[in-house]
Amino acid sequence: MTNTGQMVNAYVAGRGNLSAEDQALVARRARALGPAYRLFYETPVHLVRGEGVWLYDKDGKAYLDTYNNVASVGHCHPHVVAATARQAAVFASHTRYLHDSVLDYAEALLAHFPSDLSHLMMTCTGSEANDLAYRIACAHTGGTGFIVTDNAYHGVTHTIAGMSPSLGTGVPLGEHVRLVPAPKGAGDVGADFAAGVQAAIDDLLRHGIKPAALFVDTVFSSDGVFVDPAGFLRPAAEAIRAAGGLFIADEVQPGFGRTGEAMWGFQRHGLIPDMVSLGKPMGNGYPVAGLVIRPEVLAAFGSKARYFNTFGGNAVAAATAMAVLEVVQNEHLQDNARVVGAAFAEGLRGLASNFDCLGQLRAVGLFLGQDIIRDGAPDATLTGRIVNGLREARVLISATGPQAHVLKIRPPLVFSMQNVDTFLTAFEGVLRKV
Ligand code: PMP
Repeated sequence: MTNTGQMVNAYVAGRGNLSAEDQALVARRARALGPAYRLFYETPVHLVRGEGVWLYDKDGKAYLDTYNNVASVGHCHPHVVAATARQAAVFASHTRYLHDSVLDYAEALLAHFPSDLSHLMMTCTGSEANDLAYRIACAHTGGTGFIVTDNAYHGVTHTIAGMSPSLGTGVPLGEHVRLVPAPKGAGDVGADFAAGVQAAIDDLLRHGIKPAALFVDTVFSSDGVFVDPAGFLRPAAEAIRAAGGLFIADEVQPGFGRTGEAMWGFQRHGLIPDMVSLGKPMGNGYPVAGLVIRPEVLAAFGSKARYFNTFGGNAVAAATAMAVLEVVQNEHLQDNARVVGAAFAEGLRGLASNFDCLGQLRAVGLFLGQDIIRDGAPDATLTGRIVNGLREARVLISATGPQAHVLKIRPPLVFSMQNVDTFLTAFEGVLRKV
C-alpha cells in the first residue's frame, strides 16, 4: 500500500462517525494535499456555507462558531462581500500603479494608531508581515537576535517558523532565537516577564549576538491566553529597548477590536510598539495582512531595499479591508466584544462553581482561555473530550497552550448574548457527560 493509502486508513480508522462521503473526502485530501495538513476534531466537520456566527454542513445543520477570529465581522458579511465583488469587477491590480484604494485604506487604518506609527506596508498573510518585521528590525538595529515566548506562534516562513516554538520539536528554532517564559504566574507578572527577557538578552550578548527585537502576541494566545494585569508588557518593552532592540506587537490575534477595550492589544499595556503586525480579521477571510511601522524604524530598510508584494495591498484587498474596518466601526463591534465578552466570562465563572474541572479563566473581550484541570493539574485528554463533545453538540472551539489544556474561545465579534447562552447550555451538557 502507498504511504497515502496507509495514512488515509489510519486516519479514517480513528473516526467511526465519518460518513462514506466524508471518508472519501479525507482520502482525496490526503492524495491531493499530502501529509502535512491536519483536520480539526475526531469527526471532522464538512462545511459548505457560513453566515454571521453560524457555519452550515452539507446536510444543512448549523454549527455555532465560537472559534473563528478570521470571519471577525461575521461569516460572509454582505457589506464586505459587496466591496470585494465591486472592486474585483472594475480594477484588480497591484501597488505599482497609482490607485486610491490602498491609500484610502492606509489612511483610514493608521487613524486608529498612535501618531508615532504612521506607515503601513501591505502583505497577504500574518506570516509575511512578521517576516517583513524581521527584516526591518535587522536593518534598523544591525542586530540578528530575536526573543519570543516559549510556546509562541508567529507564522510559516522559514525564519518565522524558527520563531514559533509551538510548532514542536520537528521544526527547528533559529540559531539567533531565544525563548522566554510566557507572562504567567501569581507574582509580579510584568517584572517576572521582563526578567525573562533580560536573561534572554544577556544570553544573546554572551554569544556575540546583538539583540534585534522582542516579538510578542499581545494576548499570548498559543501560550494559553495571558492578558492580565493590563500594563504588564511595559517593563519587557523597556528592557529590549535598553538593549538596542525593538518591541514588535503581533496583533494578528487580538487586533481589530477583539479585546473590547481598544482596537489593538498593545493599547492595554500603555506602550507604543516599534512595529505592529496585522492579519486574520483584517480581510474577514480575504487574504490581506500588513505591518504598521514607525517611520524612523523603516528608514534604513527603505533606503536599501525595494519592496513589492504582488498581491499585498492590491485594489481588491484594500477595498475588502476598508469594508471590514467600516463594519467594525459602524456596528460598534469593539463595544460588542467588551459587553458580550464580559457576559461570556461571567457565565463561565458561574459554571466553574459546579464543575471542578474548570480551572482558571483568563479573558479579555471576546478572547477567552479556560483551563481544564483534574486534581488541580492540566488535563489535555479531558480538554480534547470537551472540544470533541462540543463539536458533536454543534459548537466549534479548540484548545491551546503548551499542555493543550486551555479551551480557546474566540468567536466572531458579532457574537450576541443569545449566542453566549447557546454556548453555555451546550457546554454545561458536555461537562455533565465528560
Ligand atoms: N501570528 C499569530 C499570533 C498567529 O496566530 C498567526 C496565525 N495563526 C500568524 C501570526 C500567522 O498568520 P498567517 O496564518 O496569516 O500567516
